[in-house]
Amino acid sequence: METVKLICIGCPMGCDLSVDIDNGVPVSVTGNTCPIGKKYAEEEVTAPKRTVTSTALSEDGVPVPVKTAGTVPKSAIFAVVGDIKAARPTLPVKIGDVIVKDAAGCGVSVVATKDVSG
Ligand code: SF4
Repeated sequence: METVKLICIGCPMGCDLSVDIDNGVPVSVTGNTCPIGKKYAEEEVTAPKRTVTSTALSEDGVPVPVKTAGTVPKSAIFAVVGDIKAARPTLPVKIGDVIVKDAAGCGVSVVATKDVSG
């Protein structure tokens, strides 16, 4: 049995989590104040995911702040950032516009987080 200590990133409370793992399988989570912490801990020790925030450059070279519309596997972050860097959105861009569809084949889009007119 292995125990992993984590800090929950589900909200600003930052609960200290402890996950007992048996043969790669999380068997108990303690320290969480709500179910989000349990889900986060179980996912973090088996298949960690993150929301990616970055900046794409429009075809005119204007920075467009973006983020993934959902979480992507941690192992795919560099590929997602590569797709963002390769994108060249045409201005104007509205908040929520899709900048990259299916980033790195993860099934998650990258969207603008701000209106940018140039
Ligand atoms: S366990 Fe719940 S209350 Fe605690 S940090 Fe995570 S989301 Fe917030």
